[in-house]
Amino acid sequence: MRMPLIAGNWKMNGSSALVDEFQHHFYQSTLPANVEVVVLPPFPFIQQMKEKVSPLGVSIGAQTLNPESHGAFTGEVSGAMLCDVGVDYVLVGHSERRTLFHESNEEVRQRVIAAIENGLKPILCVGETQAERESGATRKVVLQEIDAVITSLDAEQRKQLVIAYEPIWAIGSGRTSTPEDAQEVMLLIRHHLKEFDVQLGENMRLLYGGSMNADNAGALLAQPDIDGGLIGGASLKADDFLKICKEAG
Ligand code: PEP
Repeated sequence: MRMPLIAGNWKMNGSSALVDEFQHHFYQSTLPANVEVVVLPPFPFIQQMKEKVSPLGVSIGAQTLNPESHGAFTGEVSGAMLCDVGVDYVLVGHSERRTLFHESNEEVRQRVIAAIENGLKPILCVGETQAERESGATRKVVLQEIDAVITSLDAEQRKQLVIAYEPIWAIGSGRTSTPEDAQEVMLLIRHHLKEFDVQLGENMRLLYGGSMNADNAGALLAQPDIDGGLIGGASLKADDFLKICKEAG
């Protein structure tokens, strides 16, 4: 049985005031016991989130990490540092990192390994562009992005991974994949994972991401192979985010 996971990616948004707003809303509401909830704020708010929101049953994530452990990499943050401040999850290979910061599949692979070696659970993001979808390349792109990582992990390391399928054209656009289309890709991913290891395919949590919100979450999360969501815009409103968490329960 896979426990649903709802992850809120604040991207480069938020403030101390938003952390307080989350604390207030989560304090007043009961999260479903059968759902794991993660918030991924920008680095400066991790500590505050850890102190104020973690005790209310929310895990904390980071949005990226550098694969090196320490050194002369100005502006970067390592997996060891994230582990030190109590981070549980880290996003790797988000399409904004791949596009805006030119992170290659090889760099994504190195980040996933660094995350696992430091006891963090990586949420590996994969997904096709609009053009790739239209040319029928969704399967090829998504499986290539997964294989670039998974083939160099051993069986124990693979178990730490969560995969977020995020069609790039749906991220931040207000255009969501239909539940049926998203399910089709999830099933494809799950079958592919089962070719490595049947148990791995059965147990791996697959999240959908791309304009998921309080109105469409229910239909997406009802699909048999969608085990949760990676939420951007709608994770910035504590009320909406809580509604999505409840839809997953
Ligand atoms: C994301 O950033 O991963 C995301 C899915 O964003 P949004 O929900 O805003 O589309």
